[in-house]
Amino acid sequence: MAKTADQLKRYEFRTQLEGLRGKSGRGTELVSILIPHDKQISDVTSQLRDEYGQAANIKSKTTRLNVQSALDSVMSRLRFVQRAPLNGVAIYCGAIDIGGNKTEMETIIIEPIKQIKSYKYHCSSSFLLEPLEEMLMDTRVYGLLVLDRREATVGLLKGKIVQPLKHMTSSVPGKQRQGGQSAMRFQRLREIAITDFYKRIGEHTSEILIQVEPKELQGILVGGPSPTKEEFVSGEYLHHELQQKIIGKFDVSYTDESGLYELIDRASETMQNVDVMHEKQVMNRFMRELVGEKSLATYGEEHVRRNLEMGAVDTLLFSEDLRMTRLRVRCSSCNTITEVTVRYRLGTDVRDSSLKACSSCGGEMEVLGYVDIVHELTETAENMGSRVEFISTDFEEGAQLMNAFGGIAAILRYSTGI
Ligand SMILES: [Zn+2]
Repeated sequence: MAKTADQLKRYEFRTQLEGLRGKSGRGTELVSILIPHDKQISDVTSQLRDEYGQAANIKSKTTRLNVQSALDSVMSRLRFVQRAPLNGVAIYCGAIDIGGNKTEMETIIIEPIKQIKSYKYHCSSSFLLEPLEEMLMDTRVYGLLVLDRREATVGLLKGKIVQPLKHMTSSVPGKQRQGGQSAMRFQRLREIAITDFYKRIGEHTSEILIQVEPKELQGILVGGPSPTKEEFVSGEYLHHELQQKIIGKFDVSYTDESGLYELIDRASETMQNVDVMHEKQVMNRFMRELVGEKSLATYGEEHVRRNLEMGAVDTLLFSEDLRMTRLRVRCSSCNTITEVTVRYRLGTDVRDSSLKACSSCGGEMEVLGYVDIVHELTETAENMGSRVEFISTDFEEGAQLMNAFGGIAAILRYSTGI
């Protein structure tokens, strides 16, 4: 279940960054410090002490005091730290503008999902998040080529995005020769034309793929009918370094732009290690079960939760964009306590969502506590031995999970009728 823990960590990390993205200071007074593992904490502290001294020159009294108290807060926290954790640590501190001419001092400490490479100190009206946001980007690239004897298309799969880059057509004559030509001569000319086309495909494809950072290029997928793709691969028409990177040949029926998508679909049936392919597979399975006779699929928080608690869930699916929290709220006039589930927009904080008035007296509700639904259901899933999958919205079926199914769904072990 280590994979679920990683996925949950990534989800949490992303949610934290989104929360910070929405925060700003009223002046240049939000402090961000990114500390790599190998950075001496004493060096950080002495730099912060310098910054503290320099802050005395800030003209606005409020800004000056806010910057200094942020630095104070960070320094006092660092006093107990010997060394940053393996991935480093990011500390965000400052007087956050909470509207109505008010600010609130906040300190947020984040242990990132990948290593912080370089030390950064930053003081501005917003937090420095880009180095951490980059950790969420999938920089892996696959080269894509689909071809037959008439047409070829080259593209890239970057993270989960398909980029078509080059389309080529050939002048290879059809199989029917015209009258007056000898069969042998016709055949020879046709073969020359085919070889020329393969050469041209090889040159253009190499030209495009050689520009990809070699350590990011995970492999090259080749698609097309047989025997075209086999001829192309065995004829070694690609640059020799790229030729080594061909990781699969797949039957596809289109060789235009849509063939690139078909190629990924075909490859995803056999290649589990590619995220987008894996997520696509999970979504395809969900869709199949949803329309299938055994009704082994369900969606929506209520239905998923009930199936999960019965132990009927095989795979729990969350959209990476799902932000859903259950709040325990109390009416400030009649003291009624209830629970409400709120969805909030990406990039906002759940605490900013507006609450409905009390249903019994119309009084104002106050929040007593929060439960993140993703965390809660993930925990139940682990107890029940259900798999958990987080699905991004960067591809069509993934976006559908969020938009058509509310971001939460399940593939079932057996049908419960729920
Ligand atoms: Zn009330």
